[in-house]
Amino acid sequence: SPVPDYLDEVLQACGGIQGETADYIPELAKVDPSLSAVALSTVDDAHHSAGDAKHRFTIQSMSKPFAYAVAIEHLGWDAVHAKIDVEPSGEAFNEISVDSETGRPHNAMINAGAIATAGLVGSFERFADFASRLAGRELRVDEAVYESEMGSTHRNLALAHLMAAYGIVEDPRDAVERYVRQCSLAVDVRDLSRMAATLANGGVHPETGERIMAERTTRQVLSVMATCGMYDAAGDWLSTVGIPAKSGVSGGIIGVLPGQVGVAVFSPGLDAHGNSARGVEMMRRLSDDMGMHLMNPG
Ligand code: GLU
Repeated sequence: SPVPDYLDEVLQACGGIQGETADYIPELAKVDPSLSAVALSTVDDAHHSAGDAKHRFTIQSMSKPFAYAVAIEHLGWDAVHAKIDVEPSGEAFNEISVDSETGRPHNAMINAGAIATAGLVGSFERFADFASRLAGRELRVDEAVYESEMGSTHRNLALAHLMAAYGIVEDPRDAVERYVRQCSLAVDVRDLSRMAATLANGGVHPETGERIMAERTTRQVLSVMATCGMYDAAGDWLSTVGIPAKSGVSGGIIGVLPGQVGVAVFSPGLDAHGNSARGVEMMRRLSDDMGMHLMNPG
């Protein structure tokens, strides 16, 4: 297959792009910025990867779409929507951004919404089981990153307390611990592309044929990823790359082309928006070369 050579070319072409590793979580600042990887998983269960595809990093905000899916599956759409809106905020991920009258966070892809989601999911195990089923292996928490982030998570605690004042979050400490634990699951790009492939496949796992979530849930999750998944660069992303995606401060980005493929890229250096600098360029190339932009006429 020509795909592995093509993926190597993409990695090479983007290898010169530099960014800054996140340093507000001390453990993340220690990662080697030269790492790069890419993986694709199709809805027919074909898998390709290149670069440092076995390197594990923490899932961080790429956990948010999956936690949102668990909450919708667990409680139903109306109950989740009553607590978390679906409007883009155009703000940074950790913005103190909730509706000033109701305390409702704007969407589940920014921290406020993700902490509220973690509260609704009910238990960390429910999330970890779901993510592990999608990845096809048992995912584990990177305890060093968890401890490191818990020691510096003042903004997230503040957000949780603010939402508790409005009754959106019941137990702020518990919701933040669960959220940070969820962010600390260790994955590689192959795990992430598999996870994204089930979203691409309408909720049916491409390998096992098992229905893991309702088709409607995937539609909901992908819609919010498309409008809110890339921090304050969501509009630029949708116009240039053109697929639902979610990035994380560890340097990963997942993308989903509905009905076709799940994609994951990784490189720890971030741009000014907090998205992987090399990862964004890799995704742009993949989208251009493979004609992935959703607004293409066909
Ligand atoms: N756990 C990180 C935080 O809440 C995730 C941020 C991210 O990946 O955007 O600060």
